[in-house]
Amino acid sequence: MKFLTVGAGLSGAVLARGLAQAGHMVTVIDSRHHVAGNCHTERCTETGVLIHAYGPHIFHTDDAEVWAYANRFARFMPFSNRVKSTVDGAVYSLPINLHTINQFFGKTFSPSEARAFIETTQADRSLTNPQNFEEQALRFIGRDLYDAFFKGYTEKQWGCAPSALPAAILKRLPLRFNYDDSYFSHRFQGIPEQGYTAMVTSILNHVNIDVHLETAFTRAIEATVDHVIWSGPLDSYFGHRLGRLGYRTLDFERFVAQGDWQGCAVMNYGSRDVPFTRITEHKHFAPWEMHDATVCYREYARDCGPTDTPYYPIRLVAEKALLGQYQDLAAAEKNVSFVGRLGTYRYLDMDVTIRESLDLLPLLLARFGHVGAGQTARTTHIGNSLRI
Ligand code: UDP
Repeated sequence: MKFLTVGAGLSGAVLARGLAQAGHMVTVIDSRHHVAGNCHTERCTETGVLIHAYGPHIFHTDDAEVWAYANRFARFMPFSNRVKSTVDGAVYSLPINLHTINQFFGKTFSPSEARAFIETTQADRSLTNPQNFEEQALRFIGRDLYDAFFKGYTEKQWGCAPSALPAAILKRLPLRFNYDDSYFSHRFQGIPEQGYTAMVTSILNHVNIDVHLETAFTRAIEATVDHVIWSGPLDSYFGHRLGRLGYRTLDFERFVAQGDWQGCAVMNYGSRDVPFTRITEHKHFAPWEMHDATVCYREYARDCGPTDTPYYPIRLVAEKALLGQYQDLAAAEKNVSFVGRLGTYRYLDMDVTIRESLDLLPLLLARFGHVGAGQTARTTHIGNSLRI
C-alpha cells in the first residue's frame, strides 16, 4: 500500500517508520526545508550552539515504552528544566514551589505550613468546579500568585483573557510544597545529544520512506496514495471551509553575547509591561557542550496569520462548536488519519504524540495489512521536491 504522510514532525515520522517497517511505501512531505516540525534543532553558524529553532523542547514522559522508542533513535542526555521567572524586579523559581512561596510572601514556611497558608489564606475555595484557566488558578494558588506569575504571562502568550482559556492549560504545571524546582515531574527526562532533527532523521531513515522537503500538499499528490497521515492544521485539510481555528504563533528576537547571558535555559517574564514572554538561552539546553559565545531568543507570541507557522492551538472555551464540526468532518474522512498537535488541534507534548502514533499504528496495520518482512534501514531519500 502507498501512504502519504503530510508533515515530517514526530507524529508523522513515527507512523511513517512503523508503516515502512511493515512493508508499506511511505512518502513524507513537508513544506519546510527540514524535518522534525516544531522540535527542529540546528547549529547556529555564528556560535556553534545547538538551537531549538521553534522554542524550547525538553523530552519528558512517564511512558517507559515511549522513552525506549525515543532512545532507539537518539542518545539522550539527562536534562532537567529549571525555569526562573522575573517578576517586579525579583527572580523566582518555577513551577511554584516552596522556595517561590517563601520568597514571594517573605516567609520561612515548612511544607505543611506553606500548604495550610495557601489553602486557607490564598486559594478561593468557593470555586468548587473551576471552569477555566483563571478559576483554576484562583482555586489552587489564589489571586496574589496568579497575578504575579500567570495572569500577564498568559495574556501575552494566548492573546486573550485567561478566563477564556481551558483550565487544562494551567494543569500542565505542578504546584509543589517542597524545594523541588524541576519544571517537569516525569520519570524520564532528557534532550537528544545531537538534537531532535537528528533523531527524527533517524526515525525516517528507512528504505521504504521517501522524504520530500519544501513540498506542499496537493490533492494531486493525495490522489496517488491509498491513505494519508495528516499532521498539518486540522482546518487546513478542509481548506478552512467552516472558518479558521485559532492558533498562536511565535516570533523570536535573536541576540548573541559572550559567556553566560542569563545563567539558565529559560527565564520567564510574568509582567504585562515586558512585551515578550520568555528568553531562552540555548546553550543551557546542552550543558555537555562548551561554547564561548551564547545565543538567546526573546519570545513573542501573537495570533497566527494564514502564512505564519502555527504553534499552539488556542482551544478557546467559546470555540468548542467550530472544533466539533471539524472533528466531525475528520471522522468522516476514511482515507485520512489526523494526528499530532496540529492535526488533532490539541496542546500535546512530544511524548504524547509518539504514544498516539504508536497506538494508531496497529489500527492502520489491521486495516492495510503487513506487506512483507520488515526491512532495516539503509538510507532514505531526502529530496526537496516531489514530482507526480
Ligand atoms: N504560564 C504562565 N506563566 C509562566 C509559565 C507558564 O502563566 O511563567 C502558563 C501559560 O498560560 C502557559 C501555560 O502556563 O501557556 C503552560 O506553560 P508551559 O511552560 O507548559 O508552556 P510551553 O512551554 O508549552 O509554551
